[in-house]
Amino acid sequence: MRRKLVAGNWKMHGGLQQNAALLAALKVAESGLRCEVAVFPPFPYLAQMGVVLGETGLRWGAQTVSEHEAGAFTGEVAAAMLRDFGCHYVLAGHSERRSLFGEGDSVVAGKVEAALRAGLVPVLCVGETLAERESGLTMEVVARQLDVVVDRIGVEALAKVVVAYEPVWAIGTGVTATPAQAQEVHAAIRARVAACDSEVAGGLRILYGGSVKPQNAVELFAQADIDGGLIGGASLVADDFLAICQAAG
Ligand code: PEP
Repeated sequence: MRRKLVAGNWKMHGGLQQNAALLAALKVAESGLRCEVAVFPPFPYLAQMGVVLGETGLRWGAQTVSEHEAGAFTGEVAAAMLRDFGCHYVLAGHSERRSLFGEGDSVVAGKVEAALRAGLVPVLCVGETLAERESGLTMEVVARQLDVVVDRIGVEALAKVVVAYEPVWAIGTGVTATPAQAQEVHAAIRARVAACDSEVAGGLRILYGGSVKPQNAVELFAQADIDGGLIGGASLVADDFLAICQAAG
């Protein structure tokens, strides 16, 4: 049985006071939640997560990580450093990193590998653009993004990875994939992994991300292969994020 995970990607938002208020609301609600919950603040606030969430069951992670372990890489943050700050998870290959910062499939695979080496759980983000979907390339793109990682780490290691299917056209746009559209891709991802290792595929958590809101979360999370959500905008509003967490319960 795969436990659902609802993860809040704060992107480049937040501040000490704002975070404290949001985290306080999550802590109050935590005991009533059945799903696993994690937040992904900007790097400087990871220390605050440790202080505020340390004794709770709530988890946190970073939004990206270097594929390198250490060295002259100004501005980069290594996976072991994230471990030092109590991170359990780290995002790899979010579409904003891919499109705005030029992170290609091989760099993303390096980040997943670096995260695993440090004992972090990578959340590998995959998804197609609107043009790719309209050209019928959705599965080709998603399979390529997945395969590069599997080729790098091996299918067994995928047991320690979470996959997030995030159609690029649905991120931050208010347009959500329909539950059927999302389920189709999630099932195809699972089938692709199952072709290599059915046990790993059966345990693999595949999150959906892209304009998830309290209004659409129940139906999305009811799909057989949707194991929770990666939530952007709505994760910054305590009531909305908690309602989405409840929907995963
Ligand atoms: C995201 O940033 O991963 C995301 C899914 O954003 P939003 O929920 O705002 O579409």
